Amino acid sequence: MRKLVAGNWKMNGFKAEGLALARALVARAAAGDPPDCALAVFPPATLLIPVGETLRGSGIALGAQDCHAEAKGAHTGDIAAPMLKDAGCSYVIVGHSERRAAHGEGDAVVRAKAAAARAAGLVPILCVGESLSERERGAALEVVAAQLAGSLPAGLASDEIVVAYEPVWAIGTGRTPTAEEVAAMHAHLRRHLEAAVKGGAGVPILYGGSVKASNARELLSVPSVEGALVGGASLNAAEFWAIAQSCP
Ligand code: PEP
Repeated sequence: MRKLVAGNWKMNGFKAEGLALARALVARAAAGDPPDCALAVFPPATLLIPVGETLRGSGIALGAQDCHAEAKGAHTGDIAAPMLKDAGCSYVIVGHSERRAAHGEGDAVVRAKAAAARAAGLVPILCVGESLSERERGAALEVVAAQLAGSLPAGLASDEIVVAYEPVWAIGTGRTPTAEEVAAMHAHLRRHLEAAVKGGAGVPILYGGSVKASNARELLSVPSVEGALVGGASLNAAEFWAIAQSCP
């Protein structure tokens, strides 16, 4: 299975910057020497359509950073999964820790969003991860397994979902778990996926949290790490490309 390197641009970029970043990635994809992985970018909602047009034919997929659990209706300011599909998205991130924390999204809401994404034909990238205090008191495995159990819709096939293990304390901090800690968490998630999803052995599990060009090879070389969800470093085309090229 090819690994997936996904760039979450978060709430960054006006039109000029977003399009310049997308064009720089397309130029690299066209220049030969492509990375041996699948690529996707997750621009802010305002840039989904123009970035999608820029990416067309490049092989780089488009994703959104969030969706509503309902397919339409009176939800001012929200965006429904079918709208994201209509805008050209293939993926949508659900349950990112920034949304869990800042918007109070619990597991039930995340599960409903993931189900809505699937119903719209999108692949949800379901984020789970422990806080620093949870890790320090030795509860990381238990907390993350509970998040996965609570956030995963029933009845999915293995090609209908991607899981991203993102320790909250590693996001935007420059800190990362050791390769051994990542491997232990991914093995734990895999056991739970095998129990919960038909063909659960095939659900890709990404690692996210302060992935940079300088540490990508070590993290992506962990056999159970099937890709990376990259935040800050995905805003720089050269850095993002170097991360992708670190896929073994
Ligand atoms: C993220 O927000 O998903 C993320 C991994 O951020 P960063 O790479 O900046 O730590």
